[in-house]
Amino acid sequence: MNAVPPDAAVASSDRLRITEIFLSLQGEARAIGWPTVFVRLTGCPLRCQYCDTAYAFHGGEWWQIDDILAEVARHGARHVCVTGGEPLSQKRCISLLKRLCDEGYDVSLETSGAIDIADVDPRVSRVLDIKTPGSMEVHRNLWSNLPLLTPHDQVKFVICSREDFDWAKDVVAEHRLTDVCDVLFSPSFAQIKPSDLADWIVAERLPVRFQLQLHKILWNDEPGR
Ligand code: SF4
Repeated sequence: MNAVPPDAAVASSDRLRITEIFLSLQGEARAIGWPTVFVRLTGCPLRCQYCDTAYAFHGGEWWQIDDILAEVARHGARHVCVTGGEPLSQKRCISLLKRLCDEGYDVSLETSGAIDIADVDPRVSRVLDIKTPGSMEVHRNLWSNLPLLTPHDQVKFVICSREDFDWAKDVVAEHRLTDVCDVLFSPSFAQIKPSDLADWIVAERLPVRFQLQLHKILWNDEPGR
């Protein structure tokens, strides 16, 4: 936790369980490179084999939404990313997202794709994962989320193998995802060579964006960076 938690004795229905709030650079997706405040919510019902935030599965501290907003404001950045874990596994995440938008932040949400996104404020840019077979959580994809996507959103595939790449390519084509929003392909860290994925995308002329996670290159994925 990068900040002092609020008074735990204050009871309210406006509380969320938070693992950490910190300022860093956005490491991926459309807002890559912007100074960004990350609000990492605790808990996730999935167990992707490559998960790099397992420390957010448990623990955390209860925060009032007002206190979260004050902590975000203290960092003084325009971009805010609500992440996890799976942030939508806490229902009050919907209220937090709305309040952040009302405050005028440029808000993004990183979500696993396993939970309904229908109630997320339309001002939020939703970065929706589609879990590949290599993640070991492909059965968790909530396909009914896909028709809800808009050009303000983004879809992300973490690719673990050539088989994953071919599977993802078919999903993109079947759902015409590139007609709707940006589609991002990332190599699973240390599982395939990034250059192999880049070569496959170029060879197939896929209209998707290759991305490497900037925070892993800069800081080797330290928590809180
Ligand atoms: S959805 Fe995200 S936080 Fe949850 S297990 Fe998968 S990678 Fe980890």
